[in-house]
Amino acid sequence: MTIQTPKTERLTLLGSTGSIGDSTLDVVARHPQRFSIFALTAHRNGAKLAEQCLRFAPEWAVVGDAATAQQLETTLRAAGSRTQVAYGEAALLSAASDAQCDTVVAAIVGAAGLKPTLAAARAGKRILLANKEALVMSGALFMDAVRDHGATLLPVDSEHNAIFQCLPAGPQPHGGVTKITLTASGGPFRTREPATLEAVTPDEACAHPNWVMGRKISVDSATMMNKGLEVIEAHWLFGLPPDRIDVLIHPQSVIHSMVSYADGSVLAQLGRPDMRTPIAHALAFPGRIDSGVASLDLVEIAKLTFEHPDYQRFPCLKLAFDALRQGGNASAVLNAANEIAVEAFLERRIGFMRIAAVVAGVLARIPNSAAGSLDDVFETDAQARRYAGEEIARLGAGALAG
Ligand code: NAD
Ligand code: MG
Repeated sequence: MTIQTPKTERLTLLGSTGSIGDSTLDVVARHPQRFSIFALTAHRNGAKLAEQCLRFAPEWAVVGDAATAQQLETTLRAAGSRTQVAYGEAALLSAASDAQCDTVVAAIVGAAGLKPTLAAARAGKRILLANKEALVMSGALFMDAVRDHGATLLPVDSEHNAIFQCLPAGPQPHGGVTKITLTASGGPFRTREPATLEAVTPDEACAHPNWVMGRKISVDSATMMNKGLEVIEAHWLFGLPPDRIDVLIHPQSVIHSMVSYADGSVLAQLGRPDMRTPIAHALAFPGRIDSGVASLDLVEIAKLTFEHPDYQRFPCLKLAFDALRQGGNASAVLNAANEIAVEAFLERRIGFMRIAAVVAGVLARIPNSAAGSLDDVFETDAQARRYAGEEIARLGAGALAG
């Protein structure tokens, strides 16, 4: 008699060295009988990827360039690891679509996540989606690929995961849903005097009051562009028009989002602000597993408060709503211009409030058109990045004087 060991679910983790990558591996490590790692990918952080490979023994490790791959290879061979090393776009796409992998965790930051996440959709994978930029750039194309290839999309972004948990099971449209409400912490500058915002530093912008995240999404949280991108993400995930997607500032980050129904019921998902909860939910769906997150103590929190967002303070949120209403290529323009502006802010080439000005300037310069194909999307993306560079050169001069 042979004793069969149950097959583990094999994961590819795109962007394993980031914040979502760390949280995912933390959950995975708690369930070694249930999950194993097929591939880990990172951009340039070969040293951290090497540590992860030694701990989780994936079949493949994929990085962005030859030099990082060479270093990783040397470290892994010296440590006796059998993980194979590859680099470049083709290797990244293979890691996301290989027949040996069951589930892809899409946690690359920014537009770079689009192609590998789309490759996973076209391969019919179960996709745990953290990378919101893929849906923002090309929501229609991406959702079509998911449907046409029988892929399964499970939202990891905490708000979308919360809404997913509060919606009825079954296909869209969900009857009786009147609106969804995305909650937002308001970030580190919710109450700061607006006149002082131009002078804030990258470290201040990245010091989020409740969540620990990568630097790009941290800046997006401070401008509330993150919530804007999430409104667009929610539109594509849940098939609701912009006027049925609401944003509410909730500084305690305990209610992660809510769904309102025609009968007056409002369903909300609550929990500590720890990404391991939505990650564990998506990993185990439709079951539930331990995530390592302590249970919620409402008496300790005592008070939950809410306020409407102020578009004067957070112009990026309005820009995102406007882009969604405009449709076509506007969201892709918004996303690309924002990535370039955030990078310039993090490199101290422009002041904080110029991020919105750069995005608005680029949106005004690119006429709206259909985003018919992936080539169209990348053409728009490239043009918006070019224009953003020009806006930064124009607006940025003197921005950081003193
Ligand atoms: P991060 O910056 O901490 O990590 C990004 C990962 O992507 C790293 O592994 C990096 O090596 C990889 N990467 C970066 N550029 C790349 C490129 N050009 N090609 C290939 N790989 C590349 O980011 P994060 O905070 O983990 O966020 C990842 C994604 O998840 C983002 O889209 C973000 O919006 C989303 N998200 C994050 C959180 C969070 O709490 N951190 C919450 C919700 C959604
Ligand atoms: Mg979120």
